[in-house]
Amino acid sequence: MPKHLLADLDRLDFDEVVDRCRRVSEPFRVTDGKGFRLRDVDPDDTLGLRDDDKERSEAALAVGVRTLARLQDVLYAQDRWALLLVVQAMDAAGKDGVVKHVMSGVNPQGCQVHSFKVPSSEELDHDWMWRCVQRLPNRGNIGIFNRSWYEETLVVRVHPEILASQKLPKSLVTDAIWDERFQDIRAFERYLARNGTVVRKFMLHVSKKEQRRRFLDRIADPDRRWKFALGDVKERGHWDAYMEAYEDAVRSTATEHAPWYVVPADHKWFTRLVVAAATIVTLADLDLAYPEVDAVKKRDLETARRLLAKKA
Ligand code: AMP
Ligand code: MG
Repeated sequence: MPKHLLADLDRLDFDEVVDRCRRVSEPFRVTDGKGFRLRDVDPDDTLGLRDDDKERSEAALAVGVRTLARLQDVLYAQDRWALLLVVQAMDAAGKDGVVKHVMSGVNPQGCQVHSFKVPSSEELDHDWMWRCVQRLPNRGNIGIFNRSWYEETLVVRVHPEILASQKLPKSLVTDAIWDERFQDIRAFERYLARNGTVVRKFMLHVSKKEQRRRFLDRIADPDRRWKFALGDVKERGHWDAYMEAYEDAVRSTATEHAPWYVVPADHKWFTRLVVAAATIVTLADLDLAYPEVDAVKKRDLETARRLLAKKA
């Protein structure tokens, strides 16, 4: 990305901001999984921007956050579409930071974040989509899933003992189970699209080397130590299996109506920029508009105005 992509952002009109957002996010969008290879995405990629552009990129993110706030206001008022952002990644890839920074300007009233953890015994007593369905965003809202149904094809696939603990009838657990899960995810995401819930999926693609560096930073930082779990280091031991599972998930579930963005994640500022840009483009491509005021409502408003004027 030439430098000018982040230049003069404050002077751009809305359409120009959206155009820049397209240029920042489209290189990472996957709408057809056939032929997708994770190794074609470099976690270190910043589209040519360098770390010393950081100040500029922070200013760009601020413009993005403002633009997102404007779009969310219309989304909420119109109350037709819902937007679901699914965020998946290895530990320390920056999921929490994306949620915190990209969503920093949106009205909390129209935004719901949910982090999916190890399933509870109640959740394990249901099909695996059950807990996710309950957390889907209302119309007019943005929902963020910090982890999601994709865990069912990632951590569960990497650890067969988790699958064994899922209380599925034996005859239903065959070698075809991952393909079946992908089929069900595809069908479910298509169903959501057909109901006005727009799904966008983000894989924050961090390198193993950068993850190690971030873990060491976390351990050394008294304010962030709490985030660290010994289990996270053990999961590193399964890195290749996770990468294969991610690649298969993207290959099997990237569609036009529910695309993946595989976002380089070795530079946090760049990751945030791409996620914000993709979210803005998604909302800008919807037919968002404030509700029309009909003749009856117009008359009501005029009556109200007259009453208020009289009282004064
Ligand atoms: P964190 O997001 O770091 O707080 O950790 C949440 C943990 O829950 C991660 O280790 C996930 O792998 C795990 N987790 C999330 N969903 C599932 C699932 N469906 N089955 C098993 N473990 C899960
Ligand atoms: Mg963790």
